[in-house]
Amino acid sequence: MKNWSRKIQWTPQLVAYPKTEQEVRDLVKSAYQKNQKVRIIGSGHSFNPLWVTDQVLISLDEYQGLISADPVTMTATVKAGTKLYQLGDLLFEQGMAMENLGDIDRQSLGGTIGTGTHGTGMDFGTISTQVIALHLVNGKGELVKCSETENRELFKAAQVSLGALGIITSITLQCVPAYKLELWNRKEDLEDVLTTFTDRIQQNRNFEFYWFPHANKVWTKTSNIATDQPDKVSLTNYLSEYVLENYVFKILCELARLAPSLNPAVSKISVGSIPNIRKVFHSHKVYATQRLVRFNEMEYNVPLKTHGEVLRDIIKTVNKGKFAVHFPIENRVVKKDDIYLSPAYERDSAYIACHVYNKKDHRPYFKALEEIFLAYGGRPHWGKMHTLKSDRLRDLYPKFSEFNEHRQAQDPKGLFLNDYLTDLFL
Ligand SMILES: Cc1cc2nc3c(=O)[nH]c(=O)nc-3n(C[C@H](O)[C@H](O)[C@H](O)COP(=O)(O)OP(=O)(O)OC[C@H]3O[C@@H](n4cnc5c(N)ncnc54)[C@H](O)[C@@H]3O)c2cc1C
Repeated sequence: MKNWSRKIQWTPQLVAYPKTEQEVRDLVKSAYQKNQKVRIIGSGHSFNPLWVTDQVLISLDEYQGLISADPVTMTATVKAGTKLYQLGDLLFEQGMAMENLGDIDRQSLGGTIGTGTHGTGMDFGTISTQVIALHLVNGKGELVKCSETENRELFKAAQVSLGALGIITSITLQCVPAYKLELWNRKEDLEDVLTTFTDRIQQNRNFEFYWFPHANKVWTKTSNIATDQPDKVSLTNYLSEYVLENYVFKILCELARLAPSLNPAVSKISVGSIPNIRKVFHSHKVYATQRLVRFNEMEYNVPLKTHGEVLRDIIKTVNKGKFAVHFPIENRVVKKDDIYLSPAYERDSAYIACHVYNKKDHRPYFKALEEIFLAYGGRPHWGKMHTLKSDRLRDLYPKFSEFNEHRQAQDPKGLFLNDYLTDLFL
């Protein structure tokens, strides 16, 4: 097995693809009786060894699709293995959509909520906040139901749970009526964007920007609800979003890897080549981008009000030129929530993400930036690289102990703990 970035590789004794909830229960019960360890994988798009096991690995790739949808209440119950790209189309057929999404749509729904995956926008929490109920097969093989109104404390723990409480089999989402978005991609001045950031996140539904190392320009992405007809795919948009962001970028990555002194130039060429583009389309197609160049990533959540300071510290550090990097640094915002392990727990947040081409060593760069994030009370994205263990996490997540109590109650034998999760929780 390999994760998306290809950095993590492992060989489980058994990879099981259950087709029903009952088969999931049978697999867990059998592992419980045999004292085997079990991990669950979605699309393997995380950057940490969350699913690594030499024993049983469960994938819900054969358990995908819509279980039910109610266009009156705008709710949909979905098999947890469903990939977001399929879900978008299935909901659209019902006149429904998810209120917000992240950058790509290759993840499974279970994995998406498993790590607190998020998009951007001050009116929206992480994607886990769109969940209103779920089914979980716990470490004893029992089927447990929880929701905003039933088993609420367990539900708050399960909404972001890294597969540590059990295997989520079905997820009920609060959706919204299908909508279109008008997206603007622009190249802008760094200083202008930093000074108007607060206004832009308040005045636009979704706003984010990418700062390119050594450059004083940024790439902004702004989207708002549109009433126009959806655009036909234009050649300029295709060239920019697919060819430039993937194939041309891949060549630049290789160049910068072979000749590290070229990193600042590659960064400036990358931002210089960003065209101003407008597109209108159905929401689920607008959020999703193609990511064909593989990288490793670290992303931290920081209190929203500290965003400018944190980013300025990062810019100063990166521009000193000690690290041969050129991937842009992504800046997004998320509304606070009440989910135990959500990085946005009880604080409006900014998320800052840094990336390194997967054929390069990311460690010195991530270490330097992680020190900055931690100095501002940063909380790591659970699916992206970080070096924290339970001793630090306990202080950063106010509901860490409550989460652990639920984990122990649902999984008394520690069936779902691998070495990585043991370091996170024990
Ligand atoms: C190119 C790329 C772009 C990305 N863009 C974004 C972004 O815009 N925003 C963002 O926040 N993140 C982003 N991510 C990170 C990604 O969304 C998360 O890592 C997400 O968890 C991956 O989903 P997955 O289905 O691959 O889950 P996996 O990585 O397979 O699993 C993630 C966790 O969820 C658990 N899990 C999976 N399924 C279940 C289940 N059914 N029940 C219980 N636990 C389960 C796993 O055990 C694991 O702990 C990106 C990653 C990549 C590679």
